[in-house]
Amino acid sequence: MLRALDVRGPQGSSEGSRQAMGAVAKGDTPRLLCVVCGHWITSAADRIEVAGAHEHTFANPHGFVFRIGCFGAAPGCSAVGVQTAQFSWFAGYAWRAAVCGKCGAHLGWGFAAPDHAFLGLIAGKLVDGPVGARGGKG
Ligand SMILES: [Zn+2]
Repeated sequence: MLRALDVRGPQGSSEGSRQAMGAVAKGDTPRLLCVVCGHWITSAADRIEVAGAHEHTFANPHGFVFRIGCFGAAPGCSAVGVQTAQFSWFAGYAWRAAVCGKCGAHLGWGFAAPDHAFLGLIAGKLVDGPVGARGGKG
């Protein structure tokens, strides 16, 4: 007599992690942190689409290729340098460098048009942090 193995049986303790089905409570959103120092830069909820997409890939005049994600706000970033419209990746937008407000690591660029502004942050410069309320301490 053979007994079928119950592959669905619980293995040890149950994990107890309940995943919200698509519904993220307002204010609870994964934080995105500076990869260098862990400073809270922005939140997943601040992702926006620009020119039809969140992610864009561009090359600068020196041939370096950057993959950036667009964010409507990044309170942890500081803008540095002089704003310029030269070589702008987004027509009509002037840009300047955006760095970590804590350690100064280059994270991307801020883009500004007369009626709109956003940040393009380099993929790989941000790491997922804990879920937390937006605008809280951090
Ligand atoms: Zn940093």
